[in-house]
Amino acid sequence: MKTLRIKKSFRFDLAGRPSDRVEDCSRVGRVGLVCDRIPFIRPKMLVKPDDRVKIGTPLFEDKTRPELKFASPGGGIVSAVNFGPRRVLESVVIAIDDDESREDFGKLSASDLASISAHDLIRHLINGGMWPCIRALPFRNIVDPGRLPPAIWINIDGDDPFQPRSDIYLKDNLSFFETGLMALGKLTKAVYVCAAAETSSLSNGLAKLVTHRISGGYPANDPGVAVYHTRKSSEDNRAWFIGGQDVIRIGRFLVSGNYPTEQMIAVSAPEANDCRHVKTRIGAPLADLVTGTYDPTVYQWITGGIFSGSAHRRDGFLGINDASLFVAPALRVRELFSFLRPGFDRPSHSRAFLSVLKRSPFSVDTDMHGEERACINCGSCTRVCPVDILPQFAYKAIYADEIEEALKHGLLDCVECGLCAYVCPSKIELSQTLIAAKQRYFMERD
Ligand code: SF4
Ligand code: SF4
Repeated sequence: MKTLRIKKSFRFDLAGRPSDRVEDCSRVGRVGLVCDRIPFIRPKMLVKPDDRVKIGTPLFEDKTRPELKFASPGGGIVSAVNFGPRRVLESVVIAIDDDESREDFGKLSASDLASISAHDLIRHLINGGMWPCIRALPFRNIVDPGRLPPAIWINIDGDDPFQPRSDIYLKDNLSFFETGLMALGKLTKAVYVCAAAETSSLSNGLAKLVTHRISGGYPANDPGVAVYHTRKSSEDNRAWFIGGQDVIRIGRFLVSGNYPTEQMIAVSAPEANDCRHVKTRIGAPLADLVTGTYDPTVYQWITGGIFSGSAHRRDGFLGINDASLFVAPALRVRELFSFLRPGFDRPSHSRAFLSVLKRSPFSVDTDMHGEERACINCGSCTRVCPVDILPQFAYKAIYADEIEEALKHGLLDCVECGLCAYVCPSKIELSQTLIAAKQRYFMERD
């Protein structure tokens, strides 16, 4: 087992980490397959309102890659198809039947799995709606099945403070995880399983599967960081990656022959003292996952991590890759003479505030605490970037429409962690600009 020490990262001490308590919230009346958070697809509907579907029935496909289908996370009747601005498909909602039925994709025994070819396994995973679980670096798009990768990275832990713990979601699921690993091993010659050095206590069964322990703060456990620090050739940059829970889902799919809907998430609503693990299902309504009511003018609902996730309305649904839900106050108050305040309560990367002396966790809100100003060349963004980009120079190159220059600054290595924007005292939207430029480059190149 190798150890990777990532020095450029940031350790947060934030209030609201999920407790060990696990609640079951799998029984919901409806589920939604959220489409607008799946990157780089152009959906084409395959069902219409009032159609009856099973768990695993394809609801839409990608127009540019029609073989890529997105499976229903519930069995019942299509009750709504929601479109956003410019008729972009947002979500497909299923009202769930009491006795949900499931599509049968066929089971694979251990000996079937040992003898199946990579081509047939890929077909099986695509038909069963499992292919969107696997993403490719550096663009984080759904992988191209026609080009197998040099390696697949599985990071079972996340560094975002509000993610489910691997020892909790792996409990009772280790055999599915092993089956998923065996399947991924058919697609490449190198499968790496990474666990956080600080937070994971590995069970005996898991310890023999882990290939790397990663030490460091956020975002040391991002697969892009591991690739950056271990790559030996440019070919390694196009590795694939998949989350620990998705490996379990692939194992479950192969063993049962059914599309698996189970998902463990971390729910954090610190102001209501409601921070726990929740066993639920893909596409569950967000409002069913928290207790209490929250004024939509005061609170934001964030899924997918507080630095790289996205904000939603209370009537939204859990996305296919979401493993966390955070309810944060969105303060919008002007602080009089804020520059004179000692800043005891303000988490900060710089040591300009007296909060450096504070030992208890900080509370989180979504306020910027200031507005964008000119860059003061302080170098904070460079000091935290885990992949050695100079974010301020890449940002300026993108601003001047010099994409080649931004690529030379390492734009494609960006792991989209958001740390540079978080630490910037001038509130410059560095990561948002870099991520948008990366996505534009992918679309134009494609
Ligand atoms: S440029 Fe910013 S968002 Fe990208 S990896 Fe570096 S710190 Fe993270
Ligand atoms: S952290 Fe902000 S102000 Fe400092 S160098 Fe980077 S972009 Fe400029």
